[in-house]
Amino acid sequence: MKIKVLGCSGAEFPKHHFSSFLIDGKILLDAGSVTDVLNEKDQLKIKSIFVTHAHLDHIKGIPFLADNILIGNKQERVDIFSISPVIKAIKENLLNEVVWPDFTKIPRGLRSILSLNKLKPGEPVRIDDYCITPFGVNHATPAVGYLVETPKKRRLFYSGDTGPTDKTWKEIAVKIDCLILDVTFPNRVESEAIRTGHLTPGLLKAELSKMKNMPGRIYVTHTKPQYSKTITSELKRLRINHVRLLQGGESIEL
Ligand SMILES: [Zn+2]
Ligand SMILES: [Zn+2]
Repeated sequence: MKIKVLGCSGAEFPKHHFSSFLIDGKILLDAGSVTDVLNEKDQLKIKSIFVTHAHLDHIKGIPFLADNILIGNKQERVDIFSISPVIKAIKENLLNEVVWPDFTKIPRGLRSILSLNKLKPGEPVRIDDYCITPFGVNHATPAVGYLVETPKKRRLFYSGDTGPTDKTWKEIAVKIDCLILDVTFPNRVESEAIRTGHLTPGLLKAELSKMKNMPGRIYVTHTKPQYSKTITSELKRLRINHVRLLQGGESIEL
Protein backbone atom coordinates (compact mmCIF):
# COMPACT_ATOMS: atom_id res chain seq x y z
CA MET A 1 0.00 0.00 0.00
CA LYS A 2 1.36 3.39 -0.95
CA ILE A 3 -0.13 6.39 0.85
CA LYS A 4 0.61 9.78 -0.69
CA VAL A 5 -0.01 12.72 1.63
CA LEU A 6 -1.73 15.36 -0.52
CA GLY A 7 -2.43 17.45 2.55
CA CYS A 8 -2.18 17.00 6.33
CA SER A 9 -2.61 20.54 7.62
CA GLY A 10 -5.11 21.84 10.18
CA ALA A 11 -5.22 25.24 8.47
CA GLU A 12 -4.72 26.44 4.91
CA PHE A 13 -1.68 28.47 3.81
CA PRO A 14 0.52 28.28 0.70
CA LYS A 15 2.22 24.82 0.81
CA HIS A 16 -0.06 23.75 3.69
CA HIS A 17 -3.03 21.82 2.31
CA PHE A 18 -6.05 20.35 4.09
CA SER A 19 -6.36 16.61 4.89
CA SER A 20 -6.21 14.22 1.91
CA PHE A 21 -4.44 10.87 1.76
CA LEU A 22 -4.26 9.05 -1.57
CA ILE A 23 -3.89 5.24 -1.49
CA ASP A 24 -2.32 3.67 -4.59
CA GLY A 25 -3.44 6.64 -6.70
CA LYS A 26 -7.11 5.52 -6.59
CA ILE A 27 -8.61 5.67 -3.10
CA LEU A 28 -8.78 8.93 -1.23
CA LEU A 29 -9.16 9.27 2.56
CA ASP A 30 -10.72 12.71 3.00
CA ALA A 31 -10.86 15.34 0.28
CA GLY A 32 -9.63 18.55 1.89
CA SER A 33 -7.23 19.10 -1.00
CA VAL A 34 -7.42 17.36 -4.34
CA THR A 35 -7.55 19.69 -7.32
CA ASP A 36 -5.08 22.15 -5.76
CA VAL A 37 -2.46 19.39 -5.43
CA LEU A 38 -2.94 16.77 -8.19
CA ASN A 39 -2.67 17.33 -11.95
CA GLU A 40 -5.65 16.48 -14.19
CA LYS A 41 -4.39 13.01 -15.14
CA ASP A 42 -3.98 12.00 -11.48
CA GLN A 43 -7.31 13.59 -10.47
CA LEU A 44 -9.10 11.44 -13.05
CA LYS A 45 -7.58 8.22 -11.59
CA ILE A 46 -9.48 8.65 -8.29
CA LYS A 47 -12.25 6.06 -8.00
CA SER A 48 -13.39 6.30 -4.36
CA ILE A 49 -13.36 8.87 -1.58
CA PHE A 50 -13.83 7.87 2.08
CA VAL A 51 -14.88 10.95 4.06
CA THR A 52 -14.30 11.06 7.83
CA HIS A 53 -16.72 13.92 8.55
CA ALA A 54 -18.45 16.85 6.91
CA HIS A 55 -16.25 19.72 8.10
CA LEU A 56 -15.25 21.82 5.10
CA ASP A 57 -11.51 21.16 5.49
CA HIS A 58 -12.22 17.46 4.74
CA ILE A 59 -14.70 17.79 1.85
CA LYS A 60 -13.87 20.95 -0.07
CA GLY A 61 -12.06 19.07 -2.87
CA ILE A 62 -15.17 17.05 -3.83
CA PRO A 63 -17.10 19.71 -5.83
CA PHE A 64 -14.02 20.88 -7.75
CA LEU A 65 -12.98 17.29 -8.57
CA ALA A 66 -16.51 16.59 -9.87
CA ASP A 67 -16.31 19.68 -12.08
CA ASN A 68 -12.95 18.57 -13.52
CA ILE A 69 -14.37 15.10 -14.25
CA LEU A 70 -17.25 16.72 -16.15
CA ILE A 71 -14.89 18.81 -18.28
CA GLY A 72 -12.44 15.88 -18.66
CA ASN A 73 -15.31 14.27 -20.61
CA LYS A 74 -14.21 10.66 -20.08
CA GLN A 75 -15.86 7.73 -18.35
CA GLU A 76 -14.58 8.54 -14.86
CA ARG A 77 -16.96 8.47 -11.91
CA VAL A 78 -16.28 8.67 -8.21
CA ASP A 79 -17.93 6.79 -5.35
CA ILE A 80 -18.10 8.75 -2.10
CA PHE A 81 -18.41 6.73 1.11
CA SER A 82 -19.22 7.77 4.66
CA ILE A 83 -21.63 7.30 7.53
CA SER A 84 -25.20 8.45 7.04
CA PRO A 85 -25.05 11.92 8.75
CA VAL A 86 -21.97 12.85 6.71
CA ILE A 87 -23.56 11.76 3.42
CA LYS A 88 -26.67 13.76 4.36
CA ALA A 89 -24.60 16.87 5.15
CA ILE A 90 -22.71 16.64 1.82
CA LYS A 91 -25.98 16.28 -0.09
CA GLU A 92 -27.86 19.03 1.74
CA ASN A 93 -25.11 21.58 2.33
CA LEU A 94 -22.54 21.14 -0.43
CA LEU A 95 -24.09 19.52 -3.54
CA ASN A 96 -27.39 21.32 -2.97
CA GLU A 97 -27.72 23.24 -6.27
CA VAL A 98 -27.06 26.50 -4.35
CA VAL A 99 -23.50 26.18 -3.05
CA TRP A 100 -22.59 23.87 -6.00
CA PRO A 101 -24.46 21.79 -8.63
CA ASP A 102 -25.67 18.36 -7.56
CA PHE A 103 -23.15 16.11 -9.31
CA THR A 104 -25.02 13.03 -8.05
CA LYS A 105 -27.65 13.89 -10.68
CA ILE A 106 -25.35 14.69 -13.59
CA PRO A 107 -25.24 11.48 -15.66
CA ARG A 108 -22.08 9.69 -16.65
CA GLY A 109 -22.85 6.45 -18.52
CA LEU A 110 -25.49 4.52 -16.61
CA ARG A 111 -24.66 6.27 -13.34
CA SER A 112 -23.75 9.80 -12.28
CA ILE A 113 -20.42 11.60 -11.89
CA LEU A 114 -20.64 11.27 -8.10
CA SER A 115 -22.42 8.53 -6.15
CA LEU A 116 -23.03 8.80 -2.42
CA ASN A 117 -22.74 5.53 -0.45
CA LYS A 118 -23.69 5.07 3.20
CA LEU A 119 -21.50 3.05 5.57
CA LYS A 120 -22.24 1.69 9.02
CA PRO A 121 -19.60 1.97 11.75
CA GLY A 122 -17.81 -1.36 12.19
CA GLU A 123 -19.01 -2.76 8.85
CA PRO A 124 -16.24 -3.21 6.28
CA VAL A 125 -16.40 -2.58 2.54
CA ARG A 126 -14.07 -4.12 0.01
CA ILE A 127 -12.37 -1.85 -2.51
CA ASP A 128 -9.88 -3.57 -4.82
CA ASP A 129 -7.71 -5.69 -2.49
CA TYR A 130 -8.44 -3.62 0.60
CA CYS A 131 -10.90 -4.01 3.42
CA ILE A 132 -11.96 -0.57 4.69
CA THR A 133 -13.92 -0.19 7.94
CA PRO A 134 -15.22 3.01 9.56
CA PHE A 135 -14.94 3.39 13.35
CA GLY A 136 -16.63 6.20 15.28
CA VAL A 137 -14.31 8.83 16.82
CA ASN A 138 -14.88 11.77 19.17
CA HIS A 139 -15.37 15.06 17.29
CA ALA A 140 -17.65 18.13 17.29
CA THR A 141 -19.78 16.61 14.50
CA PRO A 142 -20.49 12.94 13.58
CA ALA A 143 -17.12 11.53 12.51
CA VAL A 144 -15.30 8.28 11.83
CA GLY A 145 -11.75 7.12 11.22
CA TYR A 146 -10.93 4.40 8.69
CA LEU A 147 -9.11 1.11 9.21
CA VAL A 148 -7.58 0.00 5.90
CA GLU A 149 -6.43 -3.61 5.83
CA THR A 150 -4.30 -5.25 3.13
CA PRO A 151 -4.72 -8.92 2.09
CA LYS A 152 -1.56 -9.65 4.15
CA LYS A 153 -3.23 -8.04 7.20
CA ARG A 154 -1.12 -4.89 7.27
CA ARG A 155 -3.28 -2.23 8.87
CA LEU A 156 -3.49 1.55 8.53
CA PHE A 157 -5.79 3.54 10.80
CA TYR A 158 -6.48 7.14 9.83
CA SER A 159 -8.39 8.86 12.63
CA GLY A 160 -9.67 11.93 10.82
CA ASP A 161 -10.32 14.61 13.47
CA THR A 162 -10.67 13.26 16.97
CA GLY A 163 -10.44 14.21 20.61
CA PRO A 164 -9.85 11.71 23.42
CA THR A 165 -11.74 8.43 22.99
CA ASP A 166 -11.84 5.09 24.82
CA LYS A 167 -14.49 3.57 22.57
CA THR A 168 -12.59 3.75 19.26
CA TRP A 169 -9.52 1.86 20.54
CA LYS A 170 -11.69 -0.76 22.26
CA GLU A 171 -13.66 -1.36 19.06
CA ILE A 172 -10.62 -1.61 16.77
CA ALA A 173 -8.89 -4.13 19.07
CA VAL A 174 -6.35 -5.30 16.44
CA LYS A 175 -2.73 -4.23 16.04
CA ILE A 176 -2.37 -1.11 13.90
CA ASP A 177 0.85 -1.04 11.85
CA CYS A 178 0.53 2.58 10.84
CA LEU A 179 -1.51 5.16 12.76
CA ILE A 180 -2.25 8.63 11.39
CA LEU A 181 -3.67 10.65 14.29
CA ASP A 182 -4.90 14.22 14.84
CA VAL A 183 -2.67 16.54 16.89
CA THR A 184 -4.06 19.98 16.09
CA PHE A 185 -3.03 21.99 19.14
CA PRO A 186 -0.04 22.32 21.51
CA ASN A 187 -0.31 21.31 25.18
CA ARG A 188 -1.06 24.83 26.44
CA VAL A 189 -4.45 24.87 24.67
CA GLU A 190 -5.58 21.44 25.87
CA SER A 191 -9.01 22.69 26.97
CA GLU A 192 -9.65 24.12 23.48
CA ALA A 193 -8.54 20.79 21.95
CA ILE A 194 -10.96 18.84 24.15
CA ARG A 195 -13.81 21.31 23.51
CA THR A 196 -13.42 21.07 19.71
CA GLY A 197 -12.61 17.33 19.50
CA HIS A 198 -8.88 17.35 18.76
CA LEU A 199 -5.66 16.19 20.46
CA THR A 200 -2.45 17.76 21.80
CA PRO A 201 0.90 15.90 22.19
CA GLY A 202 0.02 15.25 25.85
CA LEU A 203 -3.43 13.92 24.91
CA LEU A 204 -1.84 11.80 22.15
CA LYS A 205 0.33 10.08 24.74
CA ALA A 206 -2.76 9.33 26.85
CA GLU A 207 -4.52 7.86 23.78
CA LEU A 208 -1.53 5.60 23.00
CA SER A 209 -1.56 4.29 26.57
CA LYS A 210 -5.16 3.10 26.03
CA MET A 211 -4.17 0.84 23.11
CA LYS A 212 -3.45 -2.84 23.78
CA ASN A 213 -0.74 -2.88 21.11
CA MET A 214 1.49 0.09 20.41
CA PRO A 215 1.17 0.96 16.69
CA GLY A 216 4.30 0.23 14.64
CA ARG A 217 4.47 3.78 13.29
CA ILE A 218 2.65 6.91 14.44
CA TYR A 219 2.23 9.94 12.19
CA VAL A 220 0.76 13.17 13.50
CA THR A 221 -1.63 15.04 11.20
CA HIS A 222 -3.98 18.07 11.16
CA THR A 223 -1.44 20.25 12.99
CA LYS A 224 -2.06 23.96 12.68
CA PRO A 225 1.08 25.40 10.99
CA GLN A 226 1.02 28.30 13.48
CA TYR A 227 1.78 25.74 16.21
CA SER A 228 4.00 23.26 14.32
CA LYS A 229 7.31 24.26 15.98
CA THR A 230 5.85 23.97 19.47
CA ILE A 231 4.10 20.70 18.65
CA THR A 232 7.32 19.23 17.16
CA SER A 233 9.28 19.95 20.35
CA GLU A 234 6.42 18.69 22.54
CA LEU A 235 6.33 15.45 20.50
CA LYS A 236 10.11 15.02 21.01
CA ARG A 237 9.63 15.34 24.75
CA LEU A 238 7.18 12.38 24.68
CA ARG A 239 10.24 10.15 24.05
CA ILE A 240 8.36 7.80 21.75
CA ASN A 241 10.84 7.39 18.91
CA HIS A 242 8.41 6.29 16.19
CA VAL A 243 6.14 9.36 16.47
CA ARG A 244 6.58 12.18 14.01
CA LEU A 245 4.82 15.03 12.27
CA LEU A 246 3.64 14.26 8.73
CA GLN A 247 4.66 16.53 5.86
CA GLY A 248 2.50 17.34 2.85
CA GLY A 249 3.84 15.66 -0.31
CA GLU A 250 5.52 12.71 1.41
CA SER A 251 4.66 9.06 0.73
CA ILE A 252 4.28 6.21 3.19
CA GLU A 253 4.79 2.57 2.18
CA LEU A 254 2.96 -0.07 4.16
ZN1 LIG B 1 -13.31 18.53 11.94
ZN1 LIG C 1 -10.39 19.10 10.21
